[in-house]
Amino acid sequence: MFSRTGFGVSVPYMKIVCFIHAAAQIVSHRLRYGYAACGMNMQKFSAFSLVRQALGANQGWKPQWRSVKPKAAYDIIIVGGGGHGLGAAYYLAKQHGLRNIAVVERGWLAGGNTARNTTIIRSNYLFDESSSYYEHSLKLWEGLSQELNYNVMFSQRGCLMIAHTVHDVQVFKRHVHANRLNGIDNEWLTPQEVKEFCPPLNISPNIRYPIMGGSLQRRAGTARHDAVAWGFARAASDMGVDIIENCEVIGINRAPTGEVTGVETTLGTIKAKKVAVSAAGHSSVVLGMAGIRLPLQSNPLQALVSEPVKPAFPTIVMSNTIHAYISQSDKGEMVIGAGTDSYVSYTQRGGLHIPAHTLEAINELCPMFRRLRMMRSWGGITDNTPDRSPITAKTSVPGLYVNCGWGTGGFKATPGAANLFAWTIAKNEPHPINAPFTIERFREGALIDEAAAAAVAH
Ligand SMILES: Cc1cc2nc3c(=O)[nH]c(=O)nc-3n(C[C@H](O)[C@H](O)[C@H](O)COP(=O)(O)OP(=O)(O)OC[C@H]3O[C@@H](n4cnc5c(N)ncnc54)[C@H](O)[C@@H]3O)c2cc1C
Repeated sequence: MFSRTGFGVSVPYMKIVCFIHAAAQIVSHRLRYGYAACGMNMQKFSAFSLVRQALGANQGWKPQWRSVKPKAAYDIIIVGGGGHGLGAAYYLAKQHGLRNIAVVERGWLAGGNTARNTTIIRSNYLFDESSSYYEHSLKLWEGLSQELNYNVMFSQRGCLMIAHTVHDVQVFKRHVHANRLNGIDNEWLTPQEVKEFCPPLNISPNIRYPIMGGSLQRRAGTARHDAVAWGFARAASDMGVDIIENCEVIGINRAPTGEVTGVETTLGTIKAKKVAVSAAGHSSVVLGMAGIRLPLQSNPLQALVSEPVKPAFPTIVMSNTIHAYISQSDKGEMVIGAGTDSYVSYTQRGGLHIPAHTLEAINELCPMFRRLRMMRSWGGITDNTPDRSPITAKTSVPGLYVNCGWGTGGFKATPGAANLFAWTIAKNEPHPINAPFTIERFREGALIDEAAAAAVAH
């Protein structure tokens, strides 16, 4: 019936173009990854593929990753199907040529903190060790959508950290200088410049939390959290990685000589030469199965979103003093984060007084928010170390590795941590960037004290 498309091109002609495009994609994919790696011939997203699927009434889309039953044995098992675990599997396959890998997830992919967080991505941390780790990650974010051929909606809208006290001003200026010495962008804004950059903020000196300036990292931004997990899962699965959901690890098996031999799961025993744990708030529980005690405390951290409104908030604003952070999602919701609940818990929710305090303060900072209605709130289980810096390291058990302690701020590190964790697993030694982030630092005293530096790590 419709012989011509809206662009004045005939449908048979479009079909030939789409066929050639699909064939070219398969050939280029085979050349990049070889036959063995192509488990399911990942469908590429492009303008052509969208048109081709539209012409076929969108009936031709395949599942994004393979659904598999676990094999009896793997070279590497990754525990935890969040962004960090899936990303590590991707980089192990992509950069280290290792394919006999399984990611085991006790629930669904990204059902942990990955899809519960407020997605602030920045690298302006104080200490050299941290800023180099987070900057490694930020650089990977900048090319991630292209690398994965999956739109992770990384939006570099800047992150403005506002100062309310003389102490805040000194601390943030120190961050600006330290970052710039390390080649990381960060700049100081006066209250008037803050207002110009983010007009909804109230810079009156007569409010409870007056804005005395702010530090701005323009390359900082947000991303679509679950897309990151899905993008890594899709690309890893395509290279042969098995992704197994609804499979909880309930034990870590070891040989009489001590090294890891595999895991016990709710789907049975799976053997492995190496086991790598990326289980966020449950890391200490999983490592406890191998007799390792981690310096971690698991606390709930809450977030909430408002009803969607038109674009009104151009950047990310963080206030460490009142412990609030705000950005606007692409759907229009105000995404708001609060501080951690102070008690230890494994529930994905927290006390009402924490978001209530945050909302009171935010309403003072941005009076126009008073008329917004809140739609949803939730919590995640954050894994907090005493110095609020992560651990990405080998453990004392041969063949057992851990990437944890990201607490309230590990989403921004997803590609960087995954990339360096993969290196550590593949080479059995840390990359120079993650070498300081050991478990032993808590015994030896070589802390990377971002807790004291900023009191907040989101
Ligand atoms: C409310 C909130 C706001 C946040 N805001 C930010 C922010 O703005 N910016 C930022 O950088 N970070 C933020 N974070 C932190 C960030 O979300 C995390 O540090 C990061 O997502 C951790 O990723 P992950 O892949 O390690 O963990 P997760 O996504 O939690 O993945 C771990 C997975 O392990 C699985 N698992 C656990 N135990 C087992 C087991 N025994 N067997 C199998 N699987 C298991 C879990 O089910 C889970 O899916 C926030 C966190 C929360 C909760």
